[in-house]
Amino acid sequence: MRDSLYVYGPVLSRRLGRSIGLSPFKTKICNLDCIYCQLGRTHNLMVEPDETVAASTLLDLFDDWLKTDQNYDTVTVSGLGEPTLYKDLKNLLLGLKARTDKPLALITNGTRFDNQDVFAAALEADIVLPTIFFNNPELDQSIHRPHVQLNIERCSKSLDAFSNQFTGELWLEVMLLKEINDTDRALETLKKRLQTIRYQRLYINVPIRPGADSTVKPPLAKRVKKFADTVQGLALDALAEGSYQSAVTDDYEALLNIIRVHPLHQHEISAFLKQRNTCIDSIFRRLNQDPKVRVSALKGLRSYRLEI
Ligand code: SF4
Repeated sequence: MRDSLYVYGPVLSRRLGRSIGLSPFKTKICNLDCIYCQLGRTHNLMVEPDETVAASTLLDLFDDWLKTDQNYDTVTVSGLGEPTLYKDLKNLLLGLKARTDKPLALITNGTRFDNQDVFAAALEADIVLPTIFFNNPELDQSIHRPHVQLNIERCSKSLDAFSNQFTGELWLEVMLLKEINDTDRALETLKKRLQTIRYQRLYINVPIRPGADSTVKPPLAKRVKKFADTVQGLALDALAEGSYQSAVTDDYEALLNIIRVHPLHQHEISAFLKQRNTCIDSIFRRLNQDPKVRVSALKGLRSYRLEI
């Protein structure tokens, strides 16, 4: 069996490579109603799900999927809405870990770490990718339109606590929106927010598809670059084919400039090099022989970083 309502892919993800996706929900279930959400409006904001599928059913579907394709880099729990609203998340993650030796990723809006069960469940993932808020009530409210019971300040403090206990990799994501949170003032707010959280990566994302609010627009490239440079984040659009512009003409030097401030995975490097029409194999040969380049692997997911 391949794609189902709950197991799909593999999806080619800029951050996670060739990834099998699992969604515990077949319709959108979320506690936020983000203006940029590609799934459209959240018509019924929830803090607890009212319909779920058993973890054993999801794991059976995953077993079926594995029988047909073993060619994947990661397994990602995300899907339609907020997966930490799935009440059997810990058993799902434990079951997946028992079935694969590939990294297990959890994509979340980062709002539910004040729930002890969610906190404990997320510790089982290898990579957790939360959205972070700016901790500015006006910005956070207008962008994410949370359920009335959500206290964003408490959510952020709980995420900070999780970051101190989590032994896997925490990859943060910030969604930048034109003339909403791409201002210099918002950048200062973000810098302050990042001071209290321990993380390995920071991705700067922009909306590339129509969102729940049709007025939402991606920021200008120079604003994305300013954010990425200032907070040492990696702009996700920099990895998309054809959209990365570098003043450095030498492909290898251009790549070193990126991994000096932000480690990249093998598939991320391939995506970057592909749009420069260069020989990918020869660049990897140079990287692997370069004494200044540190290569690490998380369950086979190779990451490259330039040591300064
Ligand atoms: S948290 Fe994710 S799923 Fe929920 S509304 Fe925001 S973007 Fe959509």
